[in-house]
Amino acid sequence: MSISLHNVIDPSISCFSCKAVCCKLEVMLITDTGVPKEHIKIDAWGAETMLRLDDGWCSAVDRDTMMCTIYQNRPWVCREFATGSQECLDERREGL
Ligand code: SF4
Ligand code: SF4
Repeated sequence: MSISLHNVIDPSISCFSCKAVCCKLEVMLITDTGVPKEHIKIDAWGAETMLRLDDGWCSAVDRDTMMCTIYQNRPWVCREFATGSQECLDERREGL
């Protein structure tokens, strides 16, 4: 018997081989996950997003390892952004 598999994540897709391209996207803070204040930007209407620096990346990205320095406290949006998802593949296609 053979079982056809669908939506299997390509094992070559890994955050370790990625330049954190998704961490250049705007990240809205819609729940309190404990993001440190220094990484939060508040716009004129009071909405909170992750602060991005002049290089375009979220300020919480470690510029040497390109990994998240606040992983345990990362925003809900970042938790929902799944490795190998269509959004991930789209960002990798454009950013890598
Ligand atoms: S989730 Fe996808 S785009 Fe984001 S760092 Fe991981 S592999 Fe790269
Ligand atoms: S909080 Fe972490 S996972 Fe989310 S955009 Fe910033 S560096 Fe990336």
